[in-house]
Amino acid sequence: MAVARVVFDPVRLGLARIVAVAIVLVVALNAAPSLAGPTPEEYAKHVGGSAKIIPPGQLTLDNRRMTCGQRPTVIDDQLDDYGAAYPGFLILNSKLMARVPTAVKQWIYSHECGHQFRGPDEETADCFAVQRGRRQGWLTPDGLEEICSFIRPSKGSSMHFSGSHRCEAMRACYADPKVR
Ligand SMILES: [Zn+2]
Repeated sequence: MAVARVVFDPVRLGLARIVAVAIVLVVALNAAPSLAGPTPEEYAKHVGGSAKIIPPGQLTLDNRRMTCGQRPTVIDDQLDDYGAAYPGFLILNSKLMARVPTAVKQWIYSHECGHQFRGPDEETADCFAVQRGRRQGWLTPDGLEEICSFIRPSKGSSMHFSGSHRCEAMRACYADPKVR
């Protein structure tokens, strides 16, 4: 069985950096898949005593339950960003998350969840998040504007979309009845 692991550069999200890590598994016949990268327990241990693992289905953000399949979330308030993703689990900085509106919290979580299911591409993760929000009913047009305000300070670069470009792409995804 061949396992390929691809690590992507950190990406600006507002003032924040979202670390997207994705893996590609090539699973041979009858071979069990295995994951590259740390387990949630290894990650929590590595970052020290303050990190906490929230089992799948038990995370709430502003009293809204958030799920990402069977993925747990590690609360790491030392993380230098709002959120990040490793293959198999999500990471949130609860101190930074406390500063943003509910819809932005849910979008950040869902963006990281998007990396779990859709891979490393930022625009795809953004699209996943807003379509999920629309489908689940937590993302209104006003909420989408809060997200746009949140990412507005982002600077574009050769690798990354600017905040306004990301916002335009998310508006299009939000309006698109076809789920991507
Ligand atoms: Zn991302």
